Amino acid sequence: MGTFKLVESFVSINGEGRFAGELALFMRFAGCNLQCDWCDTKWANSADVAYTEKTVSQLADIAKSAAEEYGLHRVTLTGGEPLLQKDIAELINALNDIGIDVEIETNGSVPIVPVAEKSGVRPEFTMDYKLPSSGMESRMCLENLPQLKDSDTLKFVCASREDLERAAEVLEEYKPVCKVYLSPVFGRIEPKDMVEFMKEKKLGRVNLQLQLHKFIWDPNERGV
Ligand code: SF4
Repeated sequence: MGTFKLVESFVSINGEGRFAGELALFMRFAGCNLQCDWCDTKWANSADVAYTEKTVSQLADIAKSAAEEYGLHRVTLTGGEPLLQKDIAELINALNDIGIDVEIETNGSVPIVPVAEKSGVRPEFTMDYKLPSSGMESRMCLENLPQLKDSDTLKFVCASREDLERAAEVLEEYKPVCKVYLSPVFGRIEPKDMVEFMKEKKLGRVNLQLQLHKFIWDPNERGV
C-alpha cells in the first residue's frame, strides 16, 4: 500500500475553480517539480518541509471524519504537485469508495491520462497552464490540453498583459471544452484590466475568478 507525504490537511472553502465557495477537505502533499515566480506555497515545496507519512487508509479515515463532521463530499488533493505522489490513483479510488469526490489541483506539467486511466472514477482535474510570468511555461505538458473533459477546469494565473495575451493564444489554439478561468496573481494585475481584456478579445466563454481566500483571510495565511 502506498504512502504519502502529507504536509497539512484542513477543511475550508474552495478558493477557486468551479467549486469555489464550497466546503472541501484539502490534503496538501510535499514537493513540486516547478518553481513558479509567484508561488504562494513555496514553503510546501522546500526539501526540509515538515510532513507526516500517511497510508491510503489513514488518509481515507481523515476524509471520512471530515465528511461526517462537516457534511462535505469533496476532497481537493493539492501541493506542491499532487500527481508526483506515485500512488495517487490508489488514494482516489479509496476516497471514491467511501463516497467522496476527488478534485486534483495540478500544475500542468505532469501527464493526467495515466492517473485518469488508473482511477475507477475519473477525478476532476483543475489544471494550471503556467504563463510567461511564472517562468515555467516551457514545462507545460501540452498533450494534457486535449484530454481535459467537460468536468475539468483549466486555469490561467495571470500577472501581466503578456500573460493574458498568451492565455488567449492557447485558448485559440487548443479550444478546450472544459471550464476556463483567468485568475489574477494577487497584487500583480488589476482584475478590472482583465475584464477589459476579456471584452477586447471576445472571451465570452471564459470566467474571471478572484481567489476567495485572499479576500477572506490574510493573503499569506496558511491552512485556510
Ligand atoms: S506549480 Fe504550484 S506549487 Fe509548484 S511552484 Fe508553481 S505555484 Fe508553487
